[in-house]
Amino acid sequence: MNPGIIDTVIQRIKERGGRVTVQRLAIINVLMRLDHPTAEEIYQFMRPEFPTLSFTTVYNTLKSLKDLDVVREYYQDERSRFEISENPHHHFHCVNCEKLVDIDRGDITVHVSQPTENQFAPFETEVVLHGICQECRVKGKE
Ligand SMILES: [Zn+2]
Ligand SMILES: [Zn+2]
Repeated sequence: MNPGIIDTVIQRIKERGGRVTVQRLAIINVLMRLDHPTAEEIYQFMRPEFPTLSFTTVYNTLKSLKDLDVVREYYQDERSRFEISENPHHHFHCVNCEKLVDIDRGDITVHVSQPTENQFAPFETEVVLHGICQECRVKGKE
């Protein structure tokens, strides 16, 4: 991910009246390093450097960043995965290993019918493809 993204994210937090705290910055840094991590994965990754940090703090900080619209959450349950919300894109979700993989916006075309367009006036499209990833398919054949 583009390292300049951290400045964009800080800018956004300030624009939305949020405070740029050490915890928020630390979590944003982790989000830049891990690929669509869960809250648990973020917590485990941070523990060596922040031994007093609790899982609840990590989770609440993620939620606050989500409320500020700088972090996105996929699936609203205990397996939720998080990422920085810059550059919206599509995803593939493997139903076997639960990983989430980015798909370029140009790789999926969505057709919205005229009545739907009129009714909702959508301004953004976000697709999640569900299936079984290549690695899991290979393993299944072994
Ligand atoms: Zn898989
Ligand atoms: Zn993504």
